[in-house]
Amino acid sequence: MNLLDQLQQTDAGSHQTEKEAGRQPAVCSRKACRLPAAWQLLWNNPKLHTPDRRKVWVACGEHRDWLEDYLQTRGLWKETLPLDSPATEDTDTVPVESA
Ligand SMILES: [Zn+2]
Repeated sequence: MNLLDQLQQTDAGSHQTEKEAGRQPAVCSRKACRLPAAWQLLWNNPKLHTPDRRKVWVACGEHRDWLEDYLQTRGLWKETLPLDSPATEDTDTVPVESA
């Protein structure tokens, strides 16, 4: 399925208010960090996800490099975008212990 189509379908629906109400504030995905996120890191694990799937971590300016390096080391990183760019809502927390 086309990602853009998914987003458009989601955003065009009548659940806008409900969706906004349930929306979490964008906080850095780095464990124990509570800073507001400014970046989104798009990644994909080919062992778990189809090639067009994009997982998203959000990062504050301080941890953007750390998270990017983490993903790049494992060959998962795809791209880093400013948080206000349109992307998926498929956010996730970082499944790792503090380094
Ligand atoms: Zn952070």
